[in-house]
Amino acid sequence: MSEILIENVNKYYGNAHVIKDISISISDQSFTVLVGPSGCGKSTLLRMIAGLEQVNSGNIFMDGSKINDLPPKDRNIAMVFQSYALYPHMSVFNNMAFGLKLEKRPKNEINDRVIEAAKILQIEDYLGRKPRQLSGGQRQRVAIGRAITRNPRVFLFDEPLSNLDAALRSDMRIELTELHAKLDATMIYVTHDQTEAMTLADNIVVLNNGQIEQVGTPIELYKKPQTIFVAGFIGSPKMNFLTGKLAQKFGGDTIGIRPEDISISASRGELEVKLRHLEHLGPDTLCYCNSKEYGQILVRESGIRSYNREQTLHVNFNKKDVHIFKGDRRI
Ligand code: ADP
Repeated sequence: MSEILIENVNKYYGNAHVIKDISISISDQSFTVLVGPSGCGKSTLLRMIAGLEQVNSGNIFMDGSKINDLPPKDRNIAMVFQSYALYPHMSVFNNMAFGLKLEKRPKNEINDRVIEAAKILQIEDYLGRKPRQLSGGQRQRVAIGRAITRNPRVFLFDEPLSNLDAALRSDMRIELTELHAKLDATMIYVTHDQTEAMTLADNIVVLNNGQIEQVGTPIELYKKPQTIFVAGFIGSPKMNFLTGKLAQKFGGDTIGIRPEDISISASRGELEVKLRHLEHLGPDTLCYCNSKEYGQILVRESGIRSYNREQTLHVNFNKKDVHIFKGDRRI
């Protein structure tokens, strides 16, 4: 069991109120992703779970016990950072064994645990190397391996893939998902990248300015964003937002329509637009259109499309795909 309950937690840095009365329930063996723009408080929240930052008010429980005042080393939590935080003068083996040596574990046990973690992460061949002799992806595996050797109840990840290139990031996402299934551990993962949140999480917590915007599965957030912020944050390319008469027709102040829920017709449709720009992604074409009344409307059409710049076109969408907002909330 390793369930974490965050209850009405607040954090101030001087006068700045950076975590505002946050409550989250993180179930045993879940993969929870805290996502939001830079500065919204994700790392602060993670560091409070790890015990690296004090909570100003509220409580954090692990398996029913309050851990607010428990030192980090007694929380049985392992943290993996964006910067890897490896010791450059130590071999991969010694980096991975470091925590266990500090705990004065028997030599045999240290050896077994390091080898087992190295096998899981397929870095057995690099155990004698120094970190500088490894690629970024291999270094991050060592940092994760060091966390695994400690057999923690909870893994915390703070933007662990941000220093890797796009192809490696997508490989590592798959590896992390497989690792989660293999270890049956509770994992809490911080990122500003909505793609990582969507692809890794069982449960996503969207944070904005120190507060929770919405908690839900990736599909729930995509299909039913409860606020304009979540609607704009989850999904790439971004949802289109339209105000004015069209929004009023739907009973809202704003409506949102995802680019993939709009289609283009040369002859007739809901709105007349002019084509401004095309981007060919291969499987899809992004069509940047402009409506006189509503401004830019981005349409994602499947396949390779060719329209002429400045061509007059018409856009269509189904009522069921329209997200309606009053103020900043969904209705
Ligand atoms: P995120 O991880 O979402 O980018 P952080 O949790 O790092 O955000 O920071 C939240 C807010 O707290 C930011 O405004 C940041 O500038 C501020 N902050 C973070 N750490 C400190 C600190 N040690 N002292 C003062 N302000 C801090």
